[in-house]
Amino acid sequence: MAGLLDSFSHADIPAGAEALRPQVKAFLAEQMAGRPADARARSWSGFDADFSRAVAARGWLGLTLPREYGGGGADAFSRFVLVEEFLAAGAPVAAHWIGDRQSGPLLLHYGTEAQRRHYLPRMCAGEIFFCIGMSEPNAGSDLASVRTRAIGGEDGWTLNGQKIWTTYAHKSHYMIALVRTSGTSDDRQKGLSQFIIDLSLPGIDIRPIVDLTGDSHFNEVFFDDVHLPADALVGQEGAGWAQVNAELAFERSGPERIYSSIVLLDCWADHLRGVPDAHAGLAVLGRLLARMAVLREMSIAVTARLAAGESPVIEAALIKDIGTALEQEIPVAIAEALAAHPEVPVTDELLRTLAFVSQVAPAYSLRGGTREILRGMIARGLGLR
Ligand SMILES: Cc1cc2nc3c(=O)[nH]c(=O)nc-3n(C[C@H](O)[C@H](O)[C@H](O)COP(=O)(O)OP(=O)(O)OC[C@H]3O[C@@H](n4cnc5c(N)ncnc54)[C@H](O)[C@@H]3O)c2cc1C
Repeated sequence: MAGLLDSFSHADIPAGAEALRPQVKAFLAEQMAGRPADARARSWSGFDADFSRAVAARGWLGLTLPREYGGGGADAFSRFVLVEEFLAAGAPVAAHWIGDRQSGPLLLHYGTEAQRRHYLPRMCAGEIFFCIGMSEPNAGSDLASVRTRAIGGEDGWTLNGQKIWTTYAHKSHYMIALVRTSGTSDDRQKGLSQFIIDLSLPGIDIRPIVDLTGDSHFNEVFFDDVHLPADALVGQEGAGWAQVNAELAFERSGPERIYSSIVLLDCWADHLRGVPDAHAGLAVLGRLLARMAVLREMSIAVTARLAAGESPVIEAALIKDIGTALEQEIPVAIAEALAAHPEVPVTDELLRTLAFVSQVAPAYSLRGGTREILRGMIARGLGLR
């Protein structure tokens, strides 16, 4: 237990990283002017290529990647500050989100020098966007049972199969996919490899899926005899499982797992400011903010471990589990507080934002690994399984 407590030692954001905050705030004040709260609530599912290119022009895409590949050469704390401000403002970060958070670091760690030089500078310039092809119709939580297969030949690979729930595949240039290169799904983690797939290649069919809110951000992706060049393989053949787990640690450790409902919370706080005697509402707001503040401290503690070159996978899973629970409670608490005072007028903007967040919130504990799977990992980390 002492080990686990040590994992969350208090850490401060260094002054150098904090110095970035006012610049980001000023940039966002200009970029976000006039965007209504229900649009801002989409934040990391809001796709806006022009916004991403404006971020790139400031040198903030690939902030932690080395300068020689077009990155900013900064540390994990600087990226924490940047991401925290983007999410608090509800910035539409989806176009560059996956590349910046996952695909870039993955290519840096496992890619060949030629792959790094080919992809990373264009990613940092906001010229190419990435998506993640892990899940399949019968391989979500049980990712090791993926069936999409690449068969190696003299001049590359032939890819057949299907991915599902692939966020923004229809607007991305490349997918980093986990596929089988040997054995069968009974072989589980063995025989899996990662590929970088150019989504404009013949034989790829991308079909958007419409969600409950009417948005279509994720997709089904079909591969029918797609020819991949030999250098589409990322890392070692057969080492895909270890690589994907490293990638998931990048995915789960960021502040996005505590701020998905922050635009709604902010919008409601604005509403409370205009309500006389809003004592009950303020008490609820205070309780939610107190929990968010603790989660933020935990997320900063994990960032300190990332900055030290560690991979705090269990701690990231813990933050995602507790963080998504808070994110899901926020719309429920706000709906109850508003319903308790039907005599108080509410703006359409707040109601639209509440409706949107209430409809998407169930997905918070699915995307990036479900609550049950994370709890299994935490139990293993505690030596209980
Ligand atoms: C908004 C959104 C965006 C997404 N984007 C992407 C993306 O870009 N790329 C990508 O590859 N995937 C993406 N996903 C897919 C996501 O990773 C999967 O939905 C998730 O891993 C769960 O898989 P599944 O949907 O197949 O559910 P299942 O694995 O079938 O799980 C169904 C339920 O059973 C529970 N369960 C399963 N196994 C166990 C177990 N062993 N013990 C206890 N309970 C268990 C789960 O917790 C869940 O509640 C996205 C999902 C969402 C909602």
